[in-house]
Amino acid sequence: MSLFKPPAYSHGDRLEAAGHVLRLSVNARARRISLRVDRTRREVVATAPSARRLSEAVAFARERAGWIKAQLADLPEARIVAPGMTVELFGRPFRLESRTGRAKIDLEAGVIAAPDDAAFGDRVMRLIKAESRRRFTEMTAGYAARLKVPTPSVSVVDTRGRWGSCTPARTAKPASIRYSWRLALAPFAVADYVAAHECAHLIEANHGPRFWALVDQLFGDPAPHRSWLRSHGTGLHAFGR
Ligand SMILES: [Zn+2]
Repeated sequence: MSLFKPPAYSHGDRLEAAGHVLRLSVNARARRISLRVDRTRREVVATAPSARRLSEAVAFARERAGWIKAQLADLPEARIVAPGMTVELFGRPFRLESRTGRAKIDLEAGVIAAPDDAAFGDRVMRLIKAESRRRFTEMTAGYAARLKVPTPSVSVVDTRGRWGSCTPARTAKPASIRYSWRLALAPFAVADYVAAHECAHLIEANHGPRFWALVDQLFGDPAPHRSWLRSHGTGLHAFGR
């Protein structure tokens, strides 16, 4: 075997194992081959310390088909976006309908309509993201006003680890808050809590006692909503894929 033979796999490759997606990852700090489940992406990740050892990681994953099946069977079922489906945004139901013409959201009728073609899902998701950004902008402005601070800029992203993040204002740069648009799919109070939490960071940039006192003052007890996110957060990622 030539010493210069390139490795068969590289970091980020996706293949199939036990009927699921297996993502390959190289981490120089890893001591050994390992396997874990990325619940938000619904993928199995095989990690090796070097690209050369990825083929070993693939073999390792394939030997553990039973384990992979059991782990992924636990995940909430994916919800594919299709006409006829109802989706709750900030606690309000919207019916997804197929209709010719431009895709649009009708807030009064509670309808999201788009042509029934291959792009239906993408168009609907874009409208949901825009609605999410609109509502979070509103909620953020409300909390900022109560805190008597300038309204920060608001954007929505599809973060996997965090539900929100706040960058406080710096010289000549206004504060900005990013929310996961998927919070639109959570109960309204959960999204509202995350907005209050991120706005409290406009005053307190940490999670100390003064920060939590401020959250309590703005919103009330965060405990039920934090626990909702811990136990149901993964479900929000199952939507639309
Ligand atoms: Zn925080």
